[in-house]
Amino acid sequence: MFTLQVRGGQTILSPETADPTRNLRKSHPSAGYIPGVAELISIAEARRRVLASVRPLGSEEVALAGALGRVLAEDVRSPIDVPPFDSSAMDGYAVVAGPPAELEVVAEARAGHPAEVAVRPGAAIAVSTGAAVPEGATAVVPVERTRTDGAGRVLVPETEPGANVRRAGEDVSAGEVVLAGGVVLGPAELGVAASIGRGALHCAVRPRVALLVTGDELAAPGEPLRPGQIYSSNDVALAAQLERVGADLVHREDVRDTAESTRAAIETALAAADVVVVSGGVSVGPHDHVKDALRGHGVEERFWGVSLRPGKPTWFGTRDDGYAFGLPGNPVSAMVTFQLFVRPALLALQGADPSATRTAATLDAPISRSPRREQAVRVRLAASANGWRATPTRDAQGSHVLTSMLGADALALIAPGEGAAAAGERVEVELL
Ligand code: AMP
Ligand code: MG
Repeated sequence: MFTLQVRGGQTILSPETADPTRNLRKSHPSAGYIPGVAELISIAEARRRVLASVRPLGSEEVALAGALGRVLAEDVRSPIDVPPFDSSAMDGYAVVAGPPAELEVVAEARAGHPAEVAVRPGAAIAVSTGAAVPEGATAVVPVERTRTDGAGRVLVPETEPGANVRRAGEDVSAGEVVLAGGVVLGPAELGVAASIGRGALHCAVRPRVALLVTGDELAAPGEPLRPGQIYSSNDVALAAQLERVGADLVHREDVRDTAESTRAAIETALAAADVVVVSGGVSVGPHDHVKDALRGHGVEERFWGVSLRPGKPTWFGTRDDGYAFGLPGNPVSAMVTFQLFVRPALLALQGADPSATRTAATLDAPISRSPRREQAVRVRLAASANGWRATPTRDAQGSHVLTSMLGADALALIAPGEGAAAAGERVEVELL
């Protein structure tokens, strides 16, 4: 009864040896099952295996101008105080603090041009914002609170010591660690590095990545579609995801669905890159050659098949210091598995924290569970008094519905089971 039939009615599995639930499970849309795979592993276990095999790449010196988005590979300590000297916060007059007075203006201190004389009682020095506070001065009076007589004298009101003076080291003191290794360098980090005088920083070497996109049905956007063709979206979406995480995309190739071209492409990719990412061709169809080709080139399987929807047929393996991911071809699956498995690997290779994008959110609406697989549901996040609230981007969440990624702030991870995850339930989310 539970036999698998092929063309011509030939029975290839006998009733005795066949798993009686095999056909049923195979046809179940959310089956936690891949032919030949005893058990699918969880998302967490798959991530654990990825991170356990990653060895960080080295570091290199990068000029600040080219360091945006790079991962810092050192703790950066300031050799100086910032500001380096007491400086004026206002345009005005540097004075000895005290009661209202009429003072003689004896000199000027401009930004970058310190005064050559000191302030003594009875005298003032005109100062610009950013100028060094002259020796002897204890406060600065803003120009709008003074009056001049046109004859080199200025009337100042009562002044407190320290008024409008920025003390040396108020921002950074010499010896302080201002940036910790592992941080992704953004505009503020680069600005702070410059403020302490660093022209270059030690950054993690960017992982070299080769992207192979398999599928005879794929046409390039911009070209006309022939019968049976679809446009390749994984190409550009995965390349963009790679760029976002700091990878250096050194090789990109479209690969035919033949064993020979898959083998050849993988050989080239392994030679060119630290990480090989393959889109499609990883599943169990007769024209899926990726796993065999990877194994054939000595890449050792670390996992095959994840209890994840979408993204079940995902493969990961390693060879020496090389890593290879076989991602499912369905466009949402490819992006989701990139986010959950490839991105953490690329961050870890650069010494950055791959868990920084995990947080929790409360579901705004019920989401039906998949009986066996954890789901990665594309959600929008909105801030509320009780933290993030998550709403699916759209009802259609199939692995081919790429528009479900539009506007998504995160993937909500919904545990498998019966029924639905209820509105108000708190779930883990992976920020996109
Ligand atoms: P595969 O993983 O190769 O079996 O592909 C699974 C599904 O994803 C098929 O419907 C493919 O046509 C589709 N697909 C594969 N590669 C791409 C791609 N680069 N862009 C868009 N869809 C793709
Ligand atoms: Mg394919």
